[in-house]
Amino acid sequence: MGYTRRKFIQNTTLLGAGTALAWPFSTSFAEATAKPALLGGAPLMEVKKWPTWPRWVSAADESKIIDVLRSGVWSRADKTDAFEKHWAQTIGTKRCLTVVNGTNALITTLANLGVGAGDEVIVPPYTFIATVMAVLAVGAMPVFVDVELDTFLIDPSRVEEKITAQTKAMIPVHIAGLPADMDRLLALAKKHHLLVVEDACQAHLAAYRGKLVGSLGDAGCFSFQNSKNMAIGEGGAITSNNDAFMDRCYSYHNLGLPYGSAVGTVTSGSVIAGTKVRFTEYQAAIGIAMLHRLEEETRLRNENAAYLHRLLADIQGVHPYRLYEGVTRGAYHLFPFRLDKEEFKGLSRDLFLKALQAEGVPCSAGYATLTDKPYLASAFSERRFVQAYPKEMLDFNGFVERNRCPNNEKLCQEQAVWFTQNLLLGTKTDMEGIAAAIRRIYDHAEAIKKA
Ligand SMILES: *Cc1c(COP(=O)(O)O)cnc(C)c1O
Repeated sequence: MGYTRRKFIQNTTLLGAGTALAWPFSTSFAEATAKPALLGGAPLMEVKKWPTWPRWVSAADESKIIDVLRSGVWSRADKTDAFEKHWAQTIGTKRCLTVVNGTNALITTLANLGVGAGDEVIVPPYTFIATVMAVLAVGAMPVFVDVELDTFLIDPSRVEEKITAQTKAMIPVHIAGLPADMDRLLALAKKHHLLVVEDACQAHLAAYRGKLVGSLGDAGCFSFQNSKNMAIGEGGAITSNNDAFMDRCYSYHNLGLPYGSAVGTVTSGSVIAGTKVRFTEYQAAIGIAMLHRLEEETRLRNENAAYLHRLLADIQGVHPYRLYEGVTRGAYHLFPFRLDKEEFKGLSRDLFLKALQAEGVPCSAGYATLTDKPYLASAFSERRFVQAYPKEMLDFNGFVERNRCPNNEKLCQEQAVWFTQNLLLGTKTDMEGIAAAIRRIYDHAEAIKKA
């Protein structure tokens, strides 16, 4: 789709002839050796032709949303119940509770697992800020454990050195939809009696040893924000097999009103201090519609990611993610890879991104570091933190120093490059186009540096 018509015809002809597609490409990719678009050549791809996101393709599902509108039942009711049942079944947990977004799925989960003031929570630094905000929101202290450079995921061999008597939980984040090393993380959690909250906000349908992520720890948290592989605009879900915990979450998300086993001695009135973060019936109707296509889209992303991985691994200086041995399926919310400047003729990531964008391939540098930003000092100055932690722990510079994560810094500041999941909904030819564009940049790296 990202190709020009001419390119497309060339490549489908190639496919029709059954030609092997591994690098080096045949002469029909001669254009790849032509002048880079950044230096005035013709771009290899067309930005406008990439699949857009979110996709709404179902006329049948549209009527279900209109039904909700016309019914006047807009607050949580049957549709939300049905969606939760679907999602629990999909993930393979006993229960699911929807909430307004992934951030509040994490906050609700931590709060109802009893994580709060004085507790430490192990988190990876290579994540969306919401993971850390959720820890701070319940008054707990984030403790950063560096990621492995080649997986982008929390390094299990560095967890233990960060565990103290105050450590209450760990949050493995399946960033990019790549499952964390759960065998080792779960073993560590068991050994040290830690709760495990999976941040699966980017990992819908990703699987580890055949089980879906979000079903492996004490609880899983999902996001249905607009960019996510299952998009509702906003939305979130908690999955778990623990009935008592899920009853408490339900009560908490509904102003502490009694629910299931979360009942007090009174017959009416709120039993716990909660909040109100309920889903709506519109969200549920959209969610049920999106769920119809999630499996097929996930299959396509997996196919394209595997193909692109093979193509990119052949290019000098380009290192796509490594999957852990237990991973049976990725979700590929992102396709991350590392650009090693030294191996890539000294071309900076900044120029690489500009050159790749000029070729019509949308890409970005991904996350900035979040272990050293002012929000931490702001949280630490709150009275609830001052009362719960020793003074030394709240010294911002000391915190930054203790939480240094060199691999994360390298990814954020120098090496990481992302493609977003919608690119993986393209064709095989599109994946070849991406690889051809990167190869072209490599071939002309010297000229690009001088430009
Ligand atoms: C998106 C995301 C969240 C938060 O979800 P929202 O629905 O945006 O609140 C949390 N963690 C990670 C890793 C995410 O990508």
